[in-house]
Amino acid sequence: MLRKKQAPAVLPAGEEREGLPMNDRHFPKVELHLHLDGSFLPETVWELGCAAGIAMPADSLEGYRAYLRATQHCGSVNEYLERFDLPLRVMQDAPALTRITRELAELLGAQGMAYAEIRFAPQLHGQKGMTQRQAVEAVLEGRRQALAHCPGLEIGILLCMMCVGPETANWEANRETVELAPEYLGRGVVGVDLAGAEGIVPLKNFAPLFRRAAELGVPFTCHAGDSQGPDTVRHAMDFGAKRIGHGHRIYEDPALCRRAAAEGVTLEICPTSNIQCKTQPSYAAHPAKKLLDMGIGVCINTDNMTLAGVELADEYRHCLSEMGFTPADLVEMDRCAIRASFAPQEVKERILSALTERGIEEIARNEAFPGEGKTRGKERPL
Ligand SMILES: [Zn+2]
Repeated sequence: MLRKKQAPAVLPAGEEREGLPMNDRHFPKVELHLHLDGSFLPETVWELGCAAGIAMPADSLEGYRAYLRATQHCGSVNEYLERFDLPLRVMQDAPALTRITRELAELLGAQGMAYAEIRFAPQLHGQKGMTQRQAVEAVLEGRRQALAHCPGLEIGILLCMMCVGPETANWEANRETVELAPEYLGRGVVGVDLAGAEGIVPLKNFAPLFRRAAELGVPFTCHAGDSQGPDTVRHAMDFGAKRIGHGHRIYEDPALCRRAAAEGVTLEICPTSNIQCKTQPSYAAHPAKKLLDMGIGVCINTDNMTLAGVELADEYRHCLSEMGFTPADLVEMDRCAIRASFAPQEVKERILSALTERGIEEIARNEAFPGEGKTRGKERPL
């Protein structure tokens, strides 16, 4: 297994913060919605795919990078989802899963992240016989390896259940994910999620799985209100979700917005991903700022760092330059993210105390997110 000794190649030079310990910074970044299978290093997936003799979607690594860049102009969600095939095919043994997790966590550390939740679906890694338990342990090993040399970084792992068709299609696999989660709480796993296709069946059909998570004391979030309308967010809220993956389409239902504000719900907003998947037409038209102003919890995330071609700093720049957010809003959303996170209480307190008013000043002076400006994320070579 190859081991990278340096910060991964996709790290933009502007994001390096030499000699600046994580805990001393005034704007510790927090990301709650990040999929492992959409946030890999292209060179790693290329290397592992070639070594395994998998048919590749390009003739060279450069060609593969170009294929991934084209994700940003996909004509359909299916074309978008196709991009997950290859990374998933190479993540079918423990060493690959460990390596890809470790590299992502290292990348987050190099980007100045204070806390991130990485999510993945253990049931998608069994093509060669790996069990869900083995997949969870492989990811936790990658997390452990990265955290050993990324001081100040905390990572929580979310286990995704999947919607792949009618809820009966993989009910047992989803049930197994929920039952597995409590064993690993306090050991790196922080909660569960439901990901995959929205709208094949009503989201409320999955309610018993979330009820079981609640019985077991497992925190949960749930994808809703992205490709489908606000009713899916209502269903998720009905079974007790206080965090919603995406959820921006709640804006179409003012009464539900008021309920979300009253119930302290936090929306994990992923602006670039929403635009790429055509669930919002543009950054300017995205309702995230309006939702924040209604008193709903909003935090900003990348969803799939590699496939979206952005990192969190890029999304923050979009927030400031195109989405109507102020520097104070960014600080508020960062606070919201860490409060809504499933991190241990001491991690929450440490990050909240590091996030001071000086963070607002740094953002206003354009120092908090050094980079090349608002188009960089879209144009950055992978
Ligand atoms: Zn997602």
